[in-house]
Amino acid sequence: MICAMEFEKIRTMHFPRDIFVGHNAIENITGVIRKNLRAGSIAIITGNNTYELAGRRAEEIIHDSKLEVFTLRTGEANMENLERVKSFIAETKAGVVVGIGGGTKIDLAKKSAFDFDIPLISVPTSASHDGIASPRASIKGNGSVASVEAVMPVAIIADTCVMVKAPFKFLAAGAADVISNITALLDWQLANRLKGEEFSSSAAAISEYASKELIEKAHMILPGVEESVWLVTKQILASGTAMAIASSSRPASGSEHMFAHALELYGAGSSIHGEQVAMGSILAMYLHGGEWKKLVKTYEKIGISLTAKSYGISRSTAIKSLMTAHSMRKERYTILGETDLSYDAAERTLEITGII
Ligand SMILES: [Zn+2]
Repeated sequence: MICAMEFEKIRTMHFPRDIFVGHNAIENITGVIRKNLRAGSIAIITGNNTYELAGRRAEEIIHDSKLEVFTLRTGEANMENLERVKSFIAETKAGVVVGIGGGTKIDLAKKSAFDFDIPLISVPTSASHDGIASPRASIKGNGSVASVEAVMPVAIIADTCVMVKAPFKFLAAGAADVISNITALLDWQLANRLKGEEFSSSAAAISEYASKELIEKAHMILPGVEESVWLVTKQILASGTAMAIASSSRPASGSEHMFAHALELYGAGSSIHGEQVAMGSILAMYLHGGEWKKLVKTYEKIGISLTAKSYGISRSTAIKSLMTAHSMRKERYTILGETDLSYDAAERTLEITGII
């Protein structure tokens, strides 16, 4: 066998080693920790509400097995809290970080674990977005939200019994985050055709499957039903797998996410990530010339509102967000192109799709 000199391609893929999804999955936490702890204590990073939801229980289970555990309750994912979390990890000499929360707590835990090069265990308390199984974290700082490199969790413990207690809008938003893969893929294909960007068919196939599965089963995403949490979480994990294969968030993040990031920057009102992405994917699908009305029907089935007004987002903010969305991540080519959309074009797109 000859190893060709000219073949220099290498891609690194990081996957979670253990995934527990289902009723009372949290009971498996000690086994997962023992497998990943080389030395030191265990740091739980959580929030006040999420501590009550799952943090306390996790603490008790870990305590019972005679492991040393320290818990920090923190706030939103910003630079200040990130520094607090990192000091806490250093002080407690943690060898494993457990992020317990809906998103921001996991983001803080994920970025800290990356900086200390220690394993992260993700324990989501809601299925609100695909960050629970991705190697990136969103951290607020200097007036913007940055998507930064972080660790892929070594394990994910998604306890559906905990997650079903979260408000339904989180589950609907999580489903929308996965459904929107469909426009991210159109953008990726476009970047491949126009810019020669590397494209992974296997990552795209998994991402597309996850999206289509939720589009088809949108009527089964219901409030207070553990089975619905299971359905969405499974596809969030599939989305994470697609990102791990591509070693990038490309299979799940395109122009729809850039619109969401622009809204976050200029004023997203009461909307949460998945809701912003849902609106973004309607706009992206319209611009791609796809079946955007079908997407509207799907989001309506899971109860996602698709008007800027319903979230308190002003008309001018929505227009400005669409005009400049392309600049949120300049190296990522999408249907939005490389220059600002004109005011008229952005207004027209938002009006036709009913977002404003
Ligand atoms: Zn997302």
